[in-house]
Order: sequence, then C-alpha cells, then structure tokens
Amino acid sequence: QGPGAMKFQRQHMDSNSRPNPNSNYCDQMMRCRRMTVGACKPLNTFVHEPLKDVEDICIQRNIRCKNGQNNCHKSKSSMRVTDCRLTNGSRYPNCKYHTSPTRRQITVACVGNPYVPVHFDA
Ligand code: ADP
Repeated sequence: QGPGAMKFQRQHMDSNSRPNPNSNYCDQMMRCRRMTVGACKPLNTFVHEPLKDVEDICIQRNIRCKNGQNNCHKSKSSMRVTDCRLTNGSRYPNCKYHTSPTRRQITVACVGNPYVPVHFDA
C-alpha cells in the first residue's frame, strides 16, 4: 500500500464508528489521527463506510477535481460521513472543531496501481 493511500485512510476512514452526534468527536478524532500537529487542519471529513465501498468509488467515471485534475470520482450512493470544521475562535495548539454528521455522495481523487483514493475532494 502506497503512502498516499495510507494517508487517505488515516485522514478520512472511520469505518467502525457510526456517524457520531457527540460534539467531541472531531476534537478527539482530528487529534488522534494527527491532523492537529503543527497546525489545525481547517476542514476534514471522516467516512463511516467499509473501506472496500470507498475504494470502489475509483471505478466510477472520471470527473474534474477542484484543483482542475481529472482523477476524481463521485460515489453512486450516499455515504455516512462526519464533517469536521475548525471553529472560528480556535487557535493552535488548541484545535476546536464543529462536528456535523450527515449523508451525501462523496468525491475522491484516485491514483496509482492499484488505483485507490488518495484525496477527499468533496
Ligand atoms: P486531503 O486532500 O484528502 O485532505 P491531503 O491534502 O493531505 O489530504 O493529501 C492529498 C494528496 O492527494 C496529496 O498528496 C495530493 O498530491 C494528492 N492528490 C492526487 N490527486 C489529487 C487531486 N486531484 N486533487 C488534490 N490532491 C490530489
């Protein structure tokens, strides 16, 4: 498994928990997944679906990513996700997040062989 795929799993996969209404979810997860090291990552999404289902998004047709590359793919079905957004007054190293559980179709960028998710686009 390449470093991009491993980083994607660290930053975006949380298959074994349900979408968590607990407002501490993002504070804890953003720290334990090391996205509050050196700076508070402003926005990050965790996906509560099996890894296989997220990897299978790479089989969907290519679409344009936010950065203009064409290696993005949108999930056919909606997925359970939790959005973590840094609160306005939050200052490093005290990273405080809004936790928003929701369901929607997600878009990931895929690279490599095997062709797997390395970036969460939307
Ligand atoms: P994320 O974007 O998932 O929050 P990072 O920004 O830390 O995570 O890493 C994304 C990685 O994916 C980078 O190494 C970047 O080079 C790679 N990548 C591959 N394709 C794309 C793309 N179309 N858009 C953005 N990043 C991409």
